[in-house]
Amino acid sequence: MTIQEQYQQLEQTVLSYNPGADIQKIREAFEFADKCHSQQKRKSGEPYIIHPLAVAQIVAEELKLDSESIEAALMHDCIEDSETDHDEISRLFSPTVADLVEGVSKLTRMQYATKEDEQMENLRKMLIAMSKDIRVILIKISDRLHNMRTMEYQTPVKQKQKSLETMEIYAPIAHRLGMQRMKWQLEDLSLKYLDPVGFHEITSRLDERKPEYDAFMAKTQKQIDRRLEEMHISHVVYGRMKHPYSIYRKMFSQNKSLDEILDLFAFRVVVDNVGDCYNVLGVVHDLYKPILGRFKDYIGTPKPNGYQSLHTTVMGSDGLPFEVQIRTQEMHEIAEYGVAAHWKYKQNGQGGGAEGRYEWVRRLLENQEGTDAEEYIHTLRVDLFSDEVFVFTPNGDVQNLPAGATPIDFAYSVHSAVGNRMVGAKVNNRIVTLDCQLKNGDIVEIITSKSSKGPSRDWLKIARSSEARSKIRQWFKKERREENIANGRSAFEAELKHAGLSMKEVLAPDVLPLLMKRVAYATLDDLYAAIGYGGFTAQKAVSRIQGELNRVNKQQQAEKAAQELLEEKQEEKKQEPVKTRRSEQGIIVEGLDNCLVKFSKCCTPVPGDDIVGFITRGYGVSVHRADCPNASEARRSAPEQEGRWIDVSWGDKVNDKYQTSIELVCKDRSNLLLDVSAALSTSNAFVIGVHCRSTEDDFAMMHIDLHVRDGKHLQTIMNKLHQVSGVLKVTRPAG
Ligand code: MN
Repeated sequence: MTIQEQYQQLEQTVLSYNPGADIQKIREAFEFADKCHSQQKRKSGEPYIIHPLAVAQIVAEELKLDSESIEAALMHDCIEDSETDHDEISRLFSPTVADLVEGVSKLTRMQYATKEDEQMENLRKMLIAMSKDIRVILIKISDRLHNMRTMEYQTPVKQKQKSLETMEIYAPIAHRLGMQRMKWQLEDLSLKYLDPVGFHEITSRLDERKPEYDAFMAKTQKQIDRRLEEMHISHVVYGRMKHPYSIYRKMFSQNKSLDEILDLFAFRVVVDNVGDCYNVLGVVHDLYKPILGRFKDYIGTPKPNGYQSLHTTVMGSDGLPFEVQIRTQEMHEIAEYGVAAHWKYKQNGQGGGAEGRYEWVRRLLENQEGTDAEEYIHTLRVDLFSDEVFVFTPNGDVQNLPAGATPIDFAYSVHSAVGNRMVGAKVNNRIVTLDCQLKNGDIVEIITSKSSKGPSRDWLKIARSSEARSKIRQWFKKERREENIANGRSAFEAELKHAGLSMKEVLAPDVLPLLMKRVAYATLDDLYAAIGYGGFTAQKAVSRIQGELNRVNKQQQAEKAAQELLEEKQEEKKQEPVKTRRSEQGIIVEGLDNCLVKFSKCCTPVPGDDIVGFITRGYGVSVHRADCPNASEARRSAPEQEGRWIDVSWGDKVNDKYQTSIELVCKDRSNLLLDVSAALSTSNAFVIGVHCRSTEDDFAMMHIDLHVRDGKHLQTIMNKLHQVSGVLKVTRPAG
């Protein structure tokens, strides 16, 4: 076939599934690629353009992708092999096509050596992550498939190397994306070079028995077909042999002979709807004897990659077992072409626009359940949500880091000793700053030195992974206690000064133990060290210490005032007259300046009441009404405290509000509360709270908390309330 004929075939294939394809642009892409590769020859001696044409043919035939993908497939080696670049393709075709071509080139440039399983899994994730557009990986797999088909022209070393890579990376990706046809072809072609003897053994034995097998297949297919016709179930039956690599795995891993493989032959019945799937299953089990334990319902429970079908294995008429897979047309396409089929559905469906771009992936993900599925979702999410970045060590290991990671994160993920001795870093052989963000596929090399002074405190801000940060902190904690203490101390002292406190206050011997308890460190040095390595902040330490100091000071002051008062009282017995002083709340306490005064909760005195004071321990003077039962009870029961009771009186300049309480006993009636509130409001009482309750014998009890100016005001209010119809008693509670 000439190159022109090959191109014509491509156009026809594209038009057969996509009549609206942009044939003009596809032709331009072909001509552009032809020019780019005009000087190149393949290993086979053919003109190079044969290869991109064949890749485009696979993309069209196997995956039925859109026009942009065909254009990109035709030009997929242009950036790599000629002068052209992203800009030119973007201008001549479209930015999307340019992105696709560049994406494929990036994957082509990646070098990988074979590794243990976990490493391979990271590599596969990295490839998917790098293909921001899923079409990139689809084109790349097609590229690899054509290279595998033409591998015979390569050297034996290259054949082995590429085959291993295909088997370990590309076939599993094809499987993960649900593309079974691509996967089988990649596996069979790889096996041919990886184990030529094993491959030959299987293919030659299949060839030997080909007439026998063919006859069996034709006969069985006819039987199924005829019975379904009779049942009027619209259907298509396909028959196929198990593919060589799959046989190879069964023969070698399960140590079976060719005859022992139960699903060497498989028939596939494709029907219109899910109901018919189960009807066909009934028909097949009626025609042939089912083999126990071989029935699987992947329609009810789809596989993680979205695969759906009914599977059963039965015994054929000639004693040959075979498998039957039953599915609908849509299930069939998804099984054969995987995500590419979803892509196609999206193209034809209403999808479109940035919003619908990943609609099909979402749909695919929604069908996933179970642990295996979680892994699958995670893999795809790498692409969709990009929360991870994959980079190489110089010897080809892949490290998986959080997105935005820097060389610091990388160094600590290799080993904490590498991080602690790091003095610089190279990315793709260029020296970079330590805060540079790593990209998928970067090769990162850490420069270490024995004379390194260790990590810098700034690294804590640059590192993205908690692993790196905690290792850096660990280092500071262990290696630099002296320095941490010095740094911590100066940070602490600066913060203390800022808060207006002095070291002397902190160090006071009766205070220090309380402060240390409050910050939860045994000694000041421990606290300094923690601040030094970043385990605790100076701000936090000082704010806690300030709080504790305030509390201690207040207590000491009250204690001192009470003490002075007691002393003065003793003096005053010898020495008259008594000097009187004023407190803040309008209370005159004999012989005391500015002392802390609080009104007792039990009797809530107001100006005008006879009052008496009690010197408390630590809370100043508590003022009761002289007739408060609590006060008289206390004086009676604790005569040894008599010295603490002192005379207090109201000054002439009092405050304008005092909190007190009133209690009402009423005969209950409707609108009682309304009239009580009206009385309160006309007498300018500021009510804080009202608690009412009705008794069973139709009385109402009310407790009112309110602010009043003084005793006169309170008396006015109480008179007003007394006038309210139904109010029987108005009292001030005490005790
Ligand atoms: Mn290529």
